Amino acid sequence: MPDFKTLDDLPDDLTGKVALVRVDLNLPMQDGSATDVTRVEAVKPTLLELTDKGAKVLLLAHYGRPGGMRSSVLSTSFVQGDVERVLGKELMFIPEIAGPLVDQALGILRPGDIGLLDNTRFWPGEEENDPNLAQAMARSGDFYVNDAFSAAHRAHASTEGIAQFLPAYAGRAMEAELTALDQALGNPETPVAAVVGGAKVSTKLAVLEHLVGKVQHLIIGGGMANTFLAARGVNVGKSLAEHDLTDTASKIIDEADHAGCTVHLPYDVVVAKEFAANPESLRTCNVHEVAEDEMILDIGPQAAEALADVLKTCRTVVWNGPLGAFETEPFDRATVALARTAAALTQEGSLTSVAGGGDTVAALAQADVTEDFTYISAAGGAFLEWMEGKDLPGVKALHAANG
Ligand code: ADP
Ligand code: MG
Repeated sequence: MPDFKTLDDLPDDLTGKVALVRVDLNLPMQDGSATDVTRVEAVKPTLLELTDKGAKVLLLAHYGRPGGMRSSVLSTSFVQGDVERVLGKELMFIPEIAGPLVDQALGILRPGDIGLLDNTRFWPGEEENDPNLAQAMARSGDFYVNDAFSAAHRAHASTEGIAQFLPAYAGRAMEAELTALDQALGNPETPVAAVVGGAKVSTKLAVLEHLVGKVQHLIIGGGMANTFLAARGVNVGKSLAEHDLTDTASKIIDEADHAGCTVHLPYDVVVAKEFAANPESLRTCNVHEVAEDEMILDIGPQAAEALADVLKTCRTVVWNGPLGAFETEPFDRATVALARTAAALTQEGSLTSVAGGGDTVAALAQADVTEDFTYISAAGGAFLEWMEGKDLPGVKALHAANG
């Protein structure tokens, strides 16, 4: 297990102490309220644990991309109501992130109260990771808690720099995420299968290159499978495929061979002449039978069944990317079927299942398995960078703070 401090390392009584807590409040908004409060629910345990112990909590968060300037439409005050609703607690909004106004607010806040600081990205020093800004923020607090894994791939003042100036702890959501990721790729039980799907090889090259050296089975689906099939000489018709990357795909297959990693490509596929729900031209065929005017929109039922058998021999699966164009019926079938197999194996106790990625989370929700996977990460970019084997600055800072 990686070495970082958690809330367990804090004293039981935090009365009067000030906790600076980095959270992800970058909520999707419509007509002035959040359409999804998952991110707030994720940090609720950390916040309530700290306030229950008597700490004054200051929330640090970014919101959108104001680019180092104040913007009247990107204040964190816009999410205040949604955060209050989820926490069941009123917040005090503080239109700064450091300085006298924050100190003044701390004089008003009582133990157990929460202050919401404004958008960290209003200050250019945030994204530049300016140590002066990090130190100025740190001055308001007694310790720092990072509960925003989704922002940990950025070396910003509120995610990385600040940890240089205060004792730093992982919040409960961060702790759960790091524990799950460690179980999935850091120190997994073998054999490990990686499912990599989605639209394009080009967005996930680094992921594929990292995984071939790490896992025993590499399952490739989605649009990216088409590029790999093309690399193997299959005519993929007018499927989404990156023909300029077929050499790269061949190289990845070779590297996998050397590393003892089995690459699984579909041998049957679901095709159609037009991309629409339940099109008339829908059919299932062998990969070698795709016509010039057809496109591959999902892997076939036989391939899906073979992959389910692969998962049955594995102890761990890490999943990013849907196997087909799951938003449109019936091209969600293989993704749904394999997700349900992974969920059932997880529930039986034979498989650890970890998944992440924006569309992947949506696809798994569509398969109704969200509760049955070991862990589903809501972090998009950070999850992918972790799958690429990169050190995430926000996570590294927690380790360093402990070393
Ligand atoms: P994630 O957000 O989970 O990382 P991606 O963004 O890489 O996943 O890919 C998801 C997209 O890939 C979905 O919109 C899906 O429709 C698309 N996709 C999957 N398979 C195909 C395919 N065979 N043809 C076209 N698009 C596909
Ligand atoms: Mg996506």
